[in-house]
Amino acid sequence: MPENTFIVRIKRQAAPDESVRWEEFEIRYRPHMNVITCLRDIAERPVTRDNRGVTPVSYDANCLEEVCGACAMLINGYPRQACSALVDNLEKPIRLEPLTKFPLVRDLQVDRSIMFENLKRMHCWVPLDGTYSIGPGPRMSPEEQQAGYPLARCITCGNCLEICPKVNSHTQFVGAAIINQVRLFNMHPTGAMHARERLQAMMGPGGIQDCDNAQNCVKVCPKNIPLTESNNEINRQVLKHAVWDWLNWSEGPTVRDDEWKKLGIQK
Ligand code: SF4
Repeated sequence: MPENTFIVRIKRQAAPDESVRWEEFEIRYRPHMNVITCLRDIAERPVTRDNRGVTPVSYDANCLEEVCGACAMLINGYPRQACSALVDNLEKPIRLEPLTKFPLVRDLQVDRSIMFENLKRMHCWVPLDGTYSIGPGPRMSPEEQQAGYPLARCITCGNCLEICPKVNSHTQFVGAAIINQVRLFNMHPTGAMHARERLQAMMGPGGIQDCDNAQNCVKVCPKNIPLTESNNEINRQVLKHAVWDWLNWSEGPTVRDDEWKKLGIQK
C-alpha cells in the first residue's frame, strides 16, 4: 500500500433484508480530510481495495458543519458526525457502520423519523391559537434566553439514543434528546402554558421513568448539551406534577407557576 494512503472499511447492506458485507477502500491522504471527504472519494471512484467495481456507498449528509445532524454514523464503533470526524485524529483503518438503533435504509443511511414522532408524542410544540393576531406572547428575559440556549442546540443526530442502553427494541424509551426538548419547551414562557401535557406524556410509556441514568448520552452529544441535567430536571418536574395530581388539585402544577400568575390566570 502506498505510504500516502489509508484504508476505510465500510459495512454495506443494500436493503434491511439483504445480506451484510464489509468492503475496504484505499483512500489517498490529503491534509484536513474528514470522513465525508473519504465517502466523496469513494463516490467518485467506487472501486474496492482488491480492484472490484461496486455501487457507491449510501449515506446522509447535508450541512457539513455539524449543524444538521444528518451524517451521524458509527465511526470506529463510536456514534458521531462524519463531517467533524477528522481523518488525522482517527485510528486506521477507519471503520464505518450505520447507527444501530434506527431502521436501516441502505449502507450508512438510517431512518431517524422515530425521533420526530417522539417529539410529537411528548408534545414538544406550541399549538397554534388561530390565524388572527392575539397580540404579543409573554416576554422572555435575557436570563431565560441564556438558560435555554444550550438546550436549543440539539441537531437531532441521534447519537445520544444510539449510545443509550435503554433505547432498544424492548422499550419505547424516547431518549435524552426528547427529554431535553421537553425541558426547553417547559422553560419557555409560551411553551410553559402546555407543560402539563408534556409532563403527563413523560409519565407514560417510554417516558422519564425508563431512564436508568447510564449517563452515556452526555458523553456523545456533539453539541455538549447538559443532557443529564435535563433528565434530572424533568424527573423533578414529573414528580412534582404527579404529587399535585395525586392531591387532586384541579389545575395541577406547572413548571412555571409564576408565568401563570403573570398571565393573570388563577388556579
Ligand atoms: Fe444529538 Fe445531542 Fe441532540 Fe442527542 S441531544 S440528538 S446527541 S445533538
